[in-house]
Amino acid sequence: MPHDPVPRPPLVVGNWKMHGRLEAMTVVGEIDEAARRAPKVEVGLAVPATLLTTAWQVAGAVKIGAQDVHAADQGAHTGFLSAPMVKDAGATFTIVGHSERRAALAESDEAVNAKAASALRHGLSVIFCVGEPLAVREAGHASKFVADQVAAGLPSLTENDRLSVAYEPIWAIGSGRAASREDIAQMHMTLRLACLARLGPQAARVRLLYGGSVSADNAAAILSITDVDGLLVGGASLKTDTFAPIIAAAGDYGAPSIANLLAT
Ligand code: PEP
Repeated sequence: MPHDPVPRPPLVVGNWKMHGRLEAMTVVGEIDEAARRAPKVEVGLAVPATLLTTAWQVAGAVKIGAQDVHAADQGAHTGFLSAPMVKDAGATFTIVGHSERRAALAESDEAVNAKAASALRHGLSVIFCVGEPLAVREAGHASKFVADQVAAGLPSLTENDRLSVAYEPIWAIGSGRAASREDIAQMHMTLRLACLARLGPQAARVRLLYGGSVSADNAAAILSITDVDGLLVGGASLKTDTFAPIIAAAGDYGAPSIANLLAT
């Protein structure tokens, strides 16, 4: 018997990385306006930790999030922030396992798993990033690489409607060269099945985002791919004129999903 489709509203998240100072609150306000014009879309902005509280005060429709959390609640960890701390500051979600952190800080799958588990335990939503380097793709091992990252790192908790997985091929980030339609479709099916192996039927609740050189020009086409539930956007999220059209494109989104076949 066919199952009811699992609702996964489109999710568009901007990752500001190490960009933005107080004057960027104008942009937060404008993006908030764009989010209000697209009520079907869930919009998030992962701002630098220094801006969490001011951005949260400015935003109404946009959810404000952190770019990372430590796995521990508190302790002797100079310079780090815990999930309860970013929550205090106004975050409702956090990114974990971004490839820039995995590379710069040698974050292991186990470390990313612990961060994600802590964030979920403290009531934050989580955007869990995966993605292969160029050499791995060229060697033909991209699917296995990404499926292994899910198997080793994805927390197996029950709060799966607060869990999203972002596929961000490392070679596509900031390069102006987004992955092809075929590569995204194939990888998102791999991801849905990897989530199923890890989480069981709850995998149907996990939103799968694509990230890597998303722009106003390619957003609609990427969002129409099966099992693309949203976008994680770096550079184009820094300015209203490049991010607002991406939010608007997600309002028209209605991609089919193999996940509906998995739902109980
Ligand atoms: C990112 O690093 O999360 C990202 C998607 O960056 P960009 O959109 O600039 O490629």
